[in-house]
Amino acid sequence: MKDLSADLQQTRQQQRYRSNRVLQRDGVICRTEDGRELLAFCSNDYLGLSQHPQVVAAFQRGAERYGVGSGAAHLINGHGPAHQALEEELAEFLGRPRALLFSTGYMANLALISTLLGRGDWVVQDRLNHASLLDGAQLSRARLKRYAHADLADARQRLTQTGSGATLLATDGVFSMDGDLAPLAELQCLCSQHHSWLLLDDAHGFGVLGKGRGTAAHYGLTATDDLIQMITLGKALGTFGAAVVASEAVIETLIQRARPYIFTTASPPANAEASRAALRLLASEHWRREHLQALIARFRQGAEQIGLPLMASTTPIQPLLLGSEARALAWSRGLEQAGILVSAIRPPTVPQGASRLRITLSAEHSPEQVDRLLDALQNRGQMTDDR
Ligand SMILES: *Cc1c(COP(=O)(O)O)cnc(C)c1O
Repeated sequence: MKDLSADLQQTRQQQRYRSNRVLQRDGVICRTEDGRELLAFCSNDYLGLSQHPQVVAAFQRGAERYGVGSGAAHLINGHGPAHQALEEELAEFLGRPRALLFSTGYMANLALISTLLGRGDWVVQDRLNHASLLDGAQLSRARLKRYAHADLADARQRLTQTGSGATLLATDGVFSMDGDLAPLAELQCLCSQHHSWLLLDDAHGFGVLGKGRGTAAHYGLTATDDLIQMITLGKALGTFGAAVVASEAVIETLIQRARPYIFTTASPPANAEASRAALRLLASEHWRREHLQALIARFRQGAEQIGLPLMASTTPIQPLLLGSEARALAWSRGLEQAGILVSAIRPPTVPQGASRLRITLSAEHSPEQVDRLLDALQNRGQMTDDR
């Protein structure tokens, strides 16, 4: 047996120990177990749809109509009318031939890379890609090449180093811990020159950018057959799950071969009904994105005035890079004393020495709440560093 306690002890010493807190979320307010109310700036519920009355009602109606569980995998008898309708609506919204639902984005990425590639193939990835893209590469046994973050020259170099066999380049659309965008138009060009698929993980772009259609729409990309989009439903859409939106051939291949699709229970049909309701709101209510953009501008302007070192992000992800684990934890605790919740992000989620507060904004925040955050950052942050 392995000695787990030594490893746990080391994690503690590195200030990387993580634990769950019981928090009851009510919009942007989180209630702790001892009854304190914290104003949260760390969820991915960018449009505030996860508790929207129409989305909740659709979930309830879905449960009444279809029950709670799907009962089986999609290919047995777990694929119901709600799943089918959601797939069709997502494909139509993104202007692509087909969509295929997955239980989570993590599983969708594992499925995509391990199904499209095998031993002898090549996968090229941005260094800051989400963990699930990296794990998908490992599962596929394809050879992995990583390029410096958003660095086109390096990406080209890595693509040139690939040999015979299929190639897939994978990138986050909006980088989850940095909030910046991938240079997608140029990457698409490179991929087409090298006959490579382009896998766009748009977990944080979908719903937020390009009138809700995500990073590809934001850049006005042409949706050719070599573009594969992965969107998650658990972030801006406010529900749960994910979808791959791609060409007919990619979708059919996933259905025939993807183990994380075939060997798992279909997600609850009520979740699909809630997602359909959320998609209607996401597609039609542009004021949510406009309000969000105004909050982002307000935050960035305020942060600049008080001299906070912001990163180059125009998205709701506005990280404050702090360096060490200890410093990130201290700032997070300082903010909490001021009634504000932003959890510290530490390795291995981010590189060593790049611990940070990952501040996120939501359409549910008011301008006054953003000002409260700025005040707290100015006062508490300073106190934390001076101590
Ligand atoms: C959250 C996230 C995922 C995983 O999606 P889940 O549905 O939460 O499993 C994949 N990629 C990126 C970039 C993400 O941020």
